[in-house]
Amino acid sequence: MPHDDRLVMTGMRQEDQDIEASLRPRHLREYIGQEKVKNSLGIYINAALKRHDALDHILLYGPPGLGKTTLACIVAAEMGQNIRVTSGPAIERPGDLASILTNLNAGDVLFIDEIHRLSRAVEEVLYPAMEDYALDIMIGKGPTARSMRLDLPKFTLVGATTRAGRLSAPLRDRFGIVFRLEMYTPEELSKIVARSAGILGMPYDSEGILEIARRSRGTPRIANRLLKRVRDFAQVRGDGHITAEVARDSLNMQDVDALGLDRIDRAVLSAMIDKFGGGPVGLDTLAAVTGEDAVTIEDVYEPYLMQLGFIMRTPRGRVCTPLAYEHLGKTPPAALPIQDHTDAEQTSLLD
Ligand code: ADP
Repeated sequence: MPHDDRLVMTGMRQEDQDIEASLRPRHLREYIGQEKVKNSLGIYINAALKRHDALDHILLYGPPGLGKTTLACIVAAEMGQNIRVTSGPAIERPGDLASILTNLNAGDVLFIDEIHRLSRAVEEVLYPAMEDYALDIMIGKGPTARSMRLDLPKFTLVGATTRAGRLSAPLRDRFGIVFRLEMYTPEELSKIVARSAGILGMPYDSEGILEIARRSRGTPRIANRLLKRVRDFAQVRGDGHITAEVARDSLNMQDVDALGLDRIDRAVLSAMIDKFGGGPVGLDTLAAVTGEDAVTIEDVYEPYLMQLGFIMRTPRGRVCTPLAYEHLGKTPPAALPIQDHTDAEQTSLLD
């Protein structure tokens, strides 16, 4: 099964588009969780509003589906400004970016998703734009060519990336505000699912909502998607009410287990345990035996498996923990490879 067919994938699926627009919180007070980010952002926004100034450029990083686009839209709404949404791969040439920048109005928010995918040539246009609100353009060719500087309106760039470590240092340094979004707890996700069920007019009880939250891999986008699937099931099976039993049966049937793992997650863990004695296993080897590509494993599967404490990264590769063995109903060996590593050797996945 290719990863973009998975019910628990973190990226956007076609089926999400219709509901995401209606479920996306519009104001900071409706944005659930990420308390530290919300508190700091609230302060920065109030300060900028008081100064009648644009907000500093903001970099948001964290796995897909955690609310980066939502937060960028909220920043614009709270500042009372417009937002222009684009992405790294969509800006192919420096001229594309120049045309976006010259069409901005003072105070506008420019959101660039997957900002780590901008080409070097495009990035170079962004540096003076971010730093001096200026665009350097070359006029003429050869020895008579000269550069001219155009002033740009003062705008706020909000950049989003799955990993800050992928960004070039000069680009990263030009963001005054950097936030890392964390995965959500089941309790926070319960609030998100309850809010969505309310908006969509679905009857539910709190156990049903919690069951969906627990299986949503710490990710609001997945939570909303699972809610929709459970609703369909609830309508066919019963009176449409979302109970724990309905949620459990519906998600079990769709191969999403009690912790939100699907067949591919279990295949990754089983390969590590059965073929490599629990690890350490290199990323490329893991990619080869599971048939997934290395970047997908790193960006899509690992963050959640690490969050659960099922996988650890060590300098020698990935290692399964006893928790992973238990979840798969296997007996951990007496001496796990993990025991000769200290926590300090763990490298952070997101940095
Ligand atoms: P990202 O840009 O990080 O991939 P999005 O901002 O597109 O993620 O979020 C995906 C969906 O999840 C949104 O449409 C929204 O409905 C929901 N969502 C994300 N974060 C929150 C939150 N903190 N509170 C409520 N809903 C959220």
